[in-house]
Amino acid sequence: MKELNVLIVGAGIAGLTFAQLIKRRGAKFKIIEKEDKSTFNRSGYMLGLLPLGGRVMNELDMQTEYFAQSTEMSTYEIHNEKGDLNKAFSLDFINQQYGSYRGIERKKLIRILSQNIEGEIRYGTTVTAIEESGDLVQVTSSANKTEKFDLVIAADGIHSGTREMRWKKEEYCYEDTNWGGWVGWLEKTTMNAYKEYWGASSFMGLYPVKSKVGIFIGGPNELLKKLGLIRFVTSIKKEILPEYKLLHHALDALMSLKKPFYWEFHDCRTKTWRKRKVLLLGDAACAFLPTAGVGASMAMDSAAALADELSRTDKAHLEYGLDLYIKRQKERVEKAQEDSRKLGKLMFVKSNLIAGIRDYAIRFYSIKEMAKNISKIMDG
Ligand SMILES: Cc1cc2nc3c(=O)[nH]c(=O)nc-3n(C[C@H](O)[C@H](O)[C@H](O)COP(=O)(O)OP(=O)(O)OC[C@H]3O[C@@H](n4cnc5c(N)ncnc54)[C@H](O)[C@@H]3O)c2cc1C
Repeated sequence: MKELNVLIVGAGIAGLTFAQLIKRRGAKFKIIEKEDKSTFNRSGYMLGLLPLGGRVMNELDMQTEYFAQSTEMSTYEIHNEKGDLNKAFSLDFINQQYGSYRGIERKKLIRILSQNIEGEIRYGTTVTAIEESGDLVQVTSSANKTEKFDLVIAADGIHSGTREMRWKKEEYCYEDTNWGGWVGWLEKTTMNAYKEYWGASSFMGLYPVKSKVGIFIGGPNELLKKLGLIRFVTSIKKEILPEYKLLHHALDALMSLKKPFYWEFHDCRTKTWRKRKVLLLGDAACAFLPTAGVGASMAMDSAAALADELSRTDKAHLEYGLDLYIKRQKERVEKAQEDSRKLGKLMFVKSNLIAGIRDYAIRFYSIKEMAKNISKIMDG
């Protein structure tokens, strides 16, 4: 790996994890990040990290810091839209059998993963052209710099500009739920249960991280865009029983957001992950809905699998190494994506009748049944 010179596009979870892993193996790399340094990693949301992703922090010797900045989750609760508990799943089997299942702010995870490689990140830069040049890839950036690399890793997220540049439109496909919503924070609150509130045409979630709780509220795009945040939350609050004070506080916090950002929930799948020596990684290859809380874990798992395959590949057989990685990882990632899509179909329901049937049926499900593929992936 010491002979490799790699360009990583995107300083997100996949790109930074991969950079840290190949740094330890002696490869040379540069990272290009679209955001300016002043705006990079400013805003953000909460992440639930399964041990699938979290265990990569062990290899990076970052586990102590990761644990200090996050909190272990012990329960996953599904409530109805009034706030009553419908079903509680213990997460202890994950913590005991596979590793700690933790909640962390994306911002904090990015900060940990950037340590000691900040100097290699070129902020406020994008790729403007990519061409093959013999055995190398020639890349021109928005800084008007043209350089050659052995390998380009496109880790630039769900709307990957690199993919747009090198892949035809018919080679990747977005799938839209037509739902979306807003994210906010309830400060100074400690919890170790994920609490979701599934309604008809509404969805809420409380997702703890260290010392605070991420709040999500969502619904069908057309309804939410028509009502706006305040009117939608006000209508939801009317349904919630007064005794569920935490939920009322959370919704009040959402209503006081100064610049609410609206997330639209779609995902994306790409037929081929590689074009010669340009490889898609993380959401750029296969993006996730947040429903199963597994996109970041898979991005880290993929970064680790890629670094592992490359560590056994010499420069002359780089493309063979990339193919071995794709064989090892593509089906695994797409299976996890199937679970997040299935959960999306359960959560994002408009009709009261279907919501009622769903709420009754989930009482008979175990968490392993609700996320069958992810469960199998964790088993190896
Ligand atoms: C609201 C929400 C909640 C979520 N909750 C969870 C959860 O609980 N658990 C979980 O596992 N996953 C969750 N996810 C999904 C998870 O965030 C993603 O799957 C994960 O971040 C993917 O990592 P990535 O590195 O591929 O992409 P990203 O983390 O999106 O990083 C991409 C990086 O590339 C940069 N970039 C973009 N375009 C360019 C360009 N043209 N040139 C250079 N740089 C560029 C971006 O600025 C960014 O820094 C959630 C997502 C959302 C939206």
